[in-house]
Amino acid sequence: MSSQQLTLALSKGRIFEETLPLLEAAGIHVTEDPEKSRKLILATNDPDVRVIIVRASDVPTYVQYGAADFGVAGKDVLFEHGGAGLYQPIDLGIAKCRMSVAVSVGFDYATAVRQGARLRVATKYTETARQHFASKGVHIDLIKLYGSMELAPLVGLSDVIVDLVSTGNTLRANNLVEVEEIMDISSRLVVNQAALKLKRERLQPILQAFERASEGK
Ligand code: ATP
Ligand code: MG
Repeated sequence: MSSQQLTLALSKGRIFEETLPLLEAAGIHVTEDPEKSRKLILATNDPDVRVIIVRASDVPTYVQYGAADFGVAGKDVLFEHGGAGLYQPIDLGIAKCRMSVAVSVGFDYATAVRQGARLRVATKYTETARQHFASKGVHIDLIKLYGSMELAPLVGLSDVIVDLVSTGNTLRANNLVEVEEIMDISSRLVVNQAALKLKRERLQPILQAFERASEGK
């Protein structure tokens, strides 16, 4: 293990799958499948490059503290984290979706907002929701959830949810409607600021390959 050893933080699922072709473009092949193996540290064909598998929302933390030199994280996750200690050079154009406000069919969101009603907002994305409603001048009570946000309005836990939407199928299946788009989401490459300086020689070609491979996405 040389001092130019690189550790890349990825989450299982779509980010892992969609990052593989970018790694291939940099000549890096991950030699194990995280869906089949229980290993959290995966080797690659390059003895100096390894991949660690972490929870999507933990990627910025591993990179911030230098436990990983670089990683791939959604804008949703980066917005909640705040981005401290992270250099964000490339929008990879992968794992695209949007952050939206949704309500139960029949809930009159426009009128509630116009009348200055206090809204109960259930979400995993509390920072995003806080800033969004503050910018609209809407007062909210935030209810922090860790998953299945779609359920909250259906059982009276909240008036609205703030969640990621791609096709809208999950919303439709649960009698919810998207009433406001907050931001477009895609995944970014994030790099530890110290690693960028100390491991520039090893990192630079990989960043360039990622940039070329993600152009036009
Ligand atoms: P977990 O599923 O473990 O609770 P998570 O939902 O954050 O964590 P993923 O579902 O793998 O993890 O999502 C990872 C990233 O992919 C998200 O942070 C977001 O940027 C993006 N993403 C989430 N849902 C979608 C979607 N439906 N379509 C496209 N991209 C998505
Ligand atoms: Mg998920």
